[in-house]
Amino acid sequence: MSRFLSEDLKNLVPYTPGEQLAGNFIKLNTNESPFPPSSRVAESLNTVEINKLNLYSDPTADLLVSEIAKYYSVKKENVAVGNGSDEILAFAFNAFGEKGFICPEITYGFYPVFADFFGIDLETVQMEDDLSINPEKYYSSKRNIILANPNAQTGIYLDLNEIERIVRSNENKIVIIDEAYIDFGGESAVSLIDKYDNLLVVQTFSKSRNLAGGRIGFAIGNKELIADINTMKFSFNPYNVNRLSILAGSASMSDCEYFIECTKQIIENRENLIEFCHANGFIVTPSKANFILMKHPSIDGKDLYLQLKEKGILVRHLGGLISDYIRVTIGSKEQMDKFKEKTSEIIKCKIQEI
Ligand SMILES: *Cc1c(COP(=O)(O)O)cnc(C)c1O
Repeated sequence: MSRFLSEDLKNLVPYTPGEQLAGNFIKLNTNESPFPPSSRVAESLNTVEINKLNLYSDPTADLLVSEIAKYYSVKKENVAVGNGSDEILAFAFNAFGEKGFICPEITYGFYPVFADFFGIDLETVQMEDDLSINPEKYYSSKRNIILANPNAQTGIYLDLNEIERIVRSNENKIVIIDEAYIDFGGESAVSLIDKYDNLLVVQTFSKSRNLAGGRIGFAIGNKELIADINTMKFSFNPYNVNRLSILAGSASMSDCEYFIECTKQIIENRENLIEFCHANGFIVTPSKANFILMKHPSIDGKDLYLQLKEKGILVRHLGGLISDYIRVTIGSKEQMDKFKEKTSEIIKCKIQEI
């Protein structure tokens, strides 16, 4: 820390991203897709386009916004895009933070960081014993609400009816639904945006669209909310989505067939892994995301994480309230087979020790 850092930022604890290790690890720790982007992405990024990088990107990102609007059957005025959904979330915290926010105590680790960064009160709400969210705890809230659905870390999904009840009971608070994992079996709340002017849905290209490195996220909501997000954007970084990402994102959005094929494969591999867990004495959350949270009575989460790492498999050990668990990203079939093989070896050894 330099002696110049502002006083109110001295205690800021930054977000810790998952390890991005070099080497031959099977990487199941940051919920990326194991599949490459749609082939239309590479086709859209040709030499002609690269040679236009001397020019700024379109600040309205019209091509990308149009493609997203088309996919969700909403108007362009209902869509704002950002440099990853993290940037959209930051804009939302900044724009709507006055009354503070509430979120579950186990959720995306960036929410408390944003709250700190912008000096916003963030109250956390206890989970149920099975790590699920009790929607009633979010009715008639004194603060704005941010929920990841499916929830980060647990993958547990709240039904669209439950989301609607939360939105309806908080008509004077904004409700942000972070749908980073919605495409792996959930139903999006985008269908509710015309009915509720206090609902903002946030999504990303990083998980289900295989474009984490492209840094593209978006918000869908009532046009006034979107205008507010865009006021943040134009007050901070008008060219927030670069030329190549605008092309990559719109190409990816247009390729429905490949999107369905990839998400279907992830869902299949997830269900298969959950079955493996049940058959091998693991406790696992009923995830509707591209990861699962699992623990075994005979091994501590940290220990399992370290032993898997030694065997070339990188998963996430999150500690805190879920330190018994590891979080495992759903990869390709081959990756999952390796994961199952190595995990079985570790568990067999542990059980023999006891
Ligand atoms: C991955 C993730 C994000 C961030 O996505 P980017 O678009 O890569 O910034 C946001 N929210 C949740 C819950 C996530 O898991």
